[in-house]
Amino acid sequence: MSEAPDKFRRYLVPVEHLRLPDEPDLVHLSVYQWESRWGEFVTDLALCGRSAEQGALPDGTAVTCPECLHYQPKYQTALDLQAGLTRGSVHAPAAQDALHEQVRAAVKAAGLKQVWIAERLGITPKHLSQLLTGRVPLSLDWADRILALCGKRVRVVVEAIQAPKEASR
Ligand SMILES: [Zn+2]
Repeated sequence: MSEAPDKFRRYLVPVEHLRLPDEPDLVHLSVYQWESRWGEFVTDLALCGRSAEQGALPDGTAVTCPECLHYQPKYQTALDLQAGLTRGSVHAPAAQDALHEQVRAAVKAAGLKQVWIAERLGITPKHLSQLLTGRVPLSLDWADRILALCGKRVRVVVEAIQAPKEASR
């Protein structure tokens, strides 16, 4: 790593093969990520599936494992995409915002008083208001309980991420 790595990102780094007599003499690639339990960056298995020595080799060490090199572009694209998402999610937690927004809209559309809903749920009107406005994170469980009183329920959709144009060429 030439610059200090970002703890929220994952990187591909060269790693040394296990120091065992039967191991082919190859430099592999592994994912490098922050491990909060140990307070340091750690490496994983090599991309080719072999175990490797812990820790990144110096930046610029040539990777010689053909299988790791074969998987490299695919991993790199995925990691770049994740990095873009992490950046985006700091400013736009889209799904969480949509959840607050839609639950709030459902409450409004049902014509229910927030005081009444809060009472049914056993929480204070203030807490309910905080859940609806997004001052307090709204869990799917709570969203579902509120929506049930409005005759609705949460439906979750997972969709594929559109890769940025320059990366999809
Ligand atoms: Zn390998």
